[in-house]
Amino acid sequence: MMMRTKLWWISSLAVLTASVGANHGFAQEYLNGIEWKEPAIVTPGSTNSDPPSDAVVLFDGKDKSHWKNADAWKIDGDALVAGRGSITSTDEFGDCQVHIEWSAATPPRGSGQGRSNSGVFLMGIYELQVLDSFENKTYSDGQAGAIYKQTPPMANAMRKPGDWNAYDIFWTAPRFNADGSLKSPAYITAMHNGVLILNHFELKGDTPFSRAPKYTKHSEKGPISLQDHGDPVRFRNIWVRPLVPVEGKQVRKAFLRNGDKETPLEN
Ligand code: MG
Repeated sequence: MMMRTKLWWISSLAVLTASVGANHGFAQEYLNGIEWKEPAIVTPGSTNSDPPSDAVVLFDGKDKSHWKNADAWKIDGDALVAGRGSITSTDEFGDCQVHIEWSAATPPRGSGQGRSNSGVFLMGIYELQVLDSFENKTYSDGQAGAIYKQTPPMANAMRKPGDWNAYDIFWTAPRFNADGSLKSPAYITAMHNGVLILNHFELKGDTPFSRAPKYTKHSEKGPISLQDHGDPVRFRNIWVRPLVPVEGKQVRKAFLRNGDKETPLEN
C-alpha cells in the first residue's frame, strides 16, 4: 500500500476514449475540459460507525423495507448486494448526514468504470461515485469519492476489494426560488474511511454522463438512491440524520459579567 504513492497526471479525454465511451453507447458525452491531477493515495484507518440514536436507519443488515425497487437486490449476510435497477429510499431528506458502507466485488472484475461501479445519489440526483478505485485507473472525476464529472476526491482512501469502505457525507441541499432559478447551490463535505475527500464542495448541478451539469428546481427533500451499474457492489450500515438548524432566541443583549457587575454589549 505504501508503495502506491506516485502521482500520475491523466488525460480525461484519453482515458475516457480508451475505457469508457465505447462501453456506454452514448452518442454524446459531457467533458469539462479539465486535466485533473490524480488524487494521492492515502491509507485509511480501520473504524466504521454504528448509527447514533437519532438516525433514520435505511439498512440494518436485515430489512429492505426502507427501499423501493429492491426486489432484485439480495441480502447476503449483513450486506445488501446491488442487483438489477437502482433503488430509492422511501424516506426523503434535505440537509442531512449520511453514513453508508460498501465493498467492491472480490475477486475484482472489469476495469476502469466497469469495476464495482455504483453510486450514492443525494436527493436521487447528485452522484457521489462508488467505484473500486483500488489499483484501478479511470478518469479522476469518476473515481470513488468523486462528484461525478465535477470533481475528484481530494484523496484516494480506497480499501482493497472485499474490505468495507465507509462514506460519511454532510449534505446541504440546494435551494430554489419560486421562479425555478437557483437560490443557493448544493454543498457536500464527505469522508472516505475517515479521510476528508470533499470539503464544502459547491456542486455545479446534477451529475450526468452526457451533458454539462445543471440545476433544475426540485423539492426541498429527496431520497437517497443507490445506483445499479451492473456490478454486485455490497452495501451495509446505511443511516441518515436529517440536519436541524440550531435554534435560539435573543432574550437580552449580550453582556460581560464580572462578579455582580454586568456590562451590556452593543450586539
Ligand atoms: Mg456510478
